[in-house]
Amino acid sequence: METLTLKINSRVKNLLGSSTLAITARAKELKAQGHDVVNFAAGEPDFDTPDSIKKAAITAIESGFTKYTPSLGTPELRQAIAQKFKKDNNLEYKPSQVAVSCGAKHSIYNVIQVLTDEGDEVLLPTPYWVSYPEMIKMTGATCKLLRTSTQTQFKITASQLAQNITPKTKLLILNSPSNPTGMLYSKKELEDIAAICVKHNIYVLSDEIYEKLIYDTNEYTSIAALGKDIYDLTITVNGVSKAYSMTGWRIGYCAASQEIIDYINKFQDHTTSNPTSISQMAALQALKETNESIEKMRQEFKNRRDLMMAEFDKIKEVSYIRPDGAFYLFCDFSKVGKSEEIAKAILNEMKVAMIPGDSFGAPGFIRLSFATSAERIKEGIRRINEWISKNNPH
Ligand code: PMP
Ligand code: GLU
Repeated sequence: METLTLKINSRVKNLLGSSTLAITARAKELKAQGHDVVNFAAGEPDFDTPDSIKKAAITAIESGFTKYTPSLGTPELRQAIAQKFKKDNNLEYKPSQVAVSCGAKHSIYNVIQVLTDEGDEVLLPTPYWVSYPEMIKMTGATCKLLRTSTQTQFKITASQLAQNITPKTKLLILNSPSNPTGMLYSKKELEDIAAICVKHNIYVLSDEIYEKLIYDTNEYTSIAALGKDIYDLTITVNGVSKAYSMTGWRIGYCAASQEIIDYINKFQDHTTSNPTSISQMAALQALKETNESIEKMRQEFKNRRDLMMAEFDKIKEVSYIRPDGAFYLFCDFSKVGKSEEIAKAILNEMKVAMIPGDSFGAPGFIRLSFATSAERIKEGIRRINEWISKNNPH
């Protein structure tokens, strides 16, 4: 018999695996084998989902709310999301302009699929969240990286954006606060970026999933709220995963002009249909929650961020920029060695899991999540320090 040759779709063949998911899985595996692993790889809050949200899901099951819903979500949930946008972001979206999907990751995938074509260019600031470039590859569009550094606090500038626009530019991806750097764009910075996008008619995908986790200011700006023109060009993405510690429930959403949402509706009709009916009821409850449950988690993250920074201040070989939001510290390990090799060695030898910056388009850096207890933060950084002292003797 002839040997079978795999004939995989060429775009899928070129995909990179998700390092965030792979390293997190490896850390869990080591833990299951009995190792005492400190997990700084996790991209999810370590708190339990609040009880009131769990109860809403149990009620949904018990009352038989277990069937298909409209693809883009129940009318009640879409309305609650529209109200959230109004209340928190000063954004006017009708419920019909909201699309609920299976996590913000799915919302982002839908947007990129619906907007971009082969030959288009998508502008992506570095460091970027690992899934954006791979999602862009799946459409045949080209990913054009906008490189940033610590000098601009890992943020793009309006002039850098303007210089990189070509007739093929279709979309800019913004993620504030950022995974992996934690950087937050100010209103003024967003106004400057919005002006360029409006001038050149470029869509903006604004990933606002870490909106509720900001630490040094109460002021959060959604770029779509900066005027009618930028509103028309922006697709605002958010979800319940990070704010309500609901990563496993898989509910994310986006809002945009009616035309774009109508195309997302068709696309989702033929792919996943609705996100889980039970999770939708849980998300509806989450959006009804008072700020209290979010505030407790936010405060705890802030304390952990401060602790992690203080512990790294003791290690002179490693530097970082203070994160404004999210739950990651993005550390410069370039004085210690190659980030991928260091992260691998520290996981194997010291049982501390971290994600090398290479996966975020920023070699030399390593991402550490502070979604773990204060005690584990101290222990993990103690081990990292021990490893550095052993391997970089002075
Ligand atoms: N955007 C960013 C920047 C993220 O870090 C994540 C976390 N996975 C997501 C989107 C997707 O979140 P969700 O769990 O809602 O799919
Ligand atoms: N967004 C999280 C992270 O960056 C979760 C894992 C993922 O979906 O990539 O680690």
